[in-house]
Amino acid sequence: MNALEITDLKKTYQSKSRTVEALKGISLNVAQGDFFALLGPNGAGKSTTIGIISSLVNKTSGTVKVFGYDIDSDVEAAKSQIGLVPQEFNFNMFETVLQIVLNQAGYYGVERTEALIRAEKYLKQTDLWEKRNARGRELSGGMKRRLMIARALMHEPKILILDEPTAGVDIEIRRGMWEFLKDLNAQGITIILTTHYLEEAEMLCRNIAIIDNGKIGQNTNMKSLLATL
Ligand code: ADP
Ligand code: ADP
Repeated sequence: MNALEITDLKKTYQSKSRTVEALKGISLNVAQGDFFALLGPNGAGKSTTIGIISSLVNKTSGTVKVFGYDIDSDVEAAKSQIGLVPQEFNFNMFETVLQIVLNQAGYYGVERTEALIRAEKYLKQTDLWEKRNARGRELSGGMKRRLMIARALMHEPKILILDEPTAGVDIEIRRGMWEFLKDLNAQGITIILTTHYLEEAEMLCRNIAIIDNGKIGQNTNMKSLLATL
């Protein structure tokens, strides 16, 4: 079973003054359990691609299936497979860490007792349990990023999608994040991340697609790619 199947995906952003062909027909498959990188420069179409996979952005044409669920005909089932970690911190800075993750569980209809069990598990895993009563705004940058991950895990998705997970994060914290993501993947969750940073893909990923100007250049395993550089 593939975790993700994208076929001939196109996206055109249209506004009064300009038209941007952000995706010009991309196709790719990600196997269950993979650690997959979508690597490309700014403006390549990475955020657009994951926005469409997560049903936050409308596509122009093409098909996307998440664990076999089509994002057009089975949108709720497709969404429930995905935990999304966007680039911007979009939680309520005035709520506590515990409230923030419990709200997410509530949003997905996870029952209260189960939600508390998961909150403890994922806050411990992201090293935030001691901070559970701190407010969002009191957290350091690295802690905020880990909170975004803990929150994305609360409905126990099969795929974790991270948009530039270590953007603006210093090298110490970046290494900690890498180890943590490797551990998560080893536990069986499929991970897809976007990055413009080859070293990050090289450290973490088994398979990679290189996207530029809305097109996939190479889609290969990391070892073969490194052999061509
Ligand atoms: P990346 O994540 O690789 O930096 P994006 O998917 O954000 O790339 O952007 C791809 C292209 O689409 C860029 O040219 C960008 O300017 C354009 N774009 C992205 N979002 C919008 C939008 N909401 N409206 C118009 N153009 C957009
Ligand atoms: P800072 O206050 O400099 O932003 P953090 O609070 O983000 O630092 O990080 C505190 C410690 O947690 C660091 O030693 C870092 O290596 C470690 N760490 C960073 N990311 C993770 C993670 N995802 N899981 C577990 N530990 C992490």
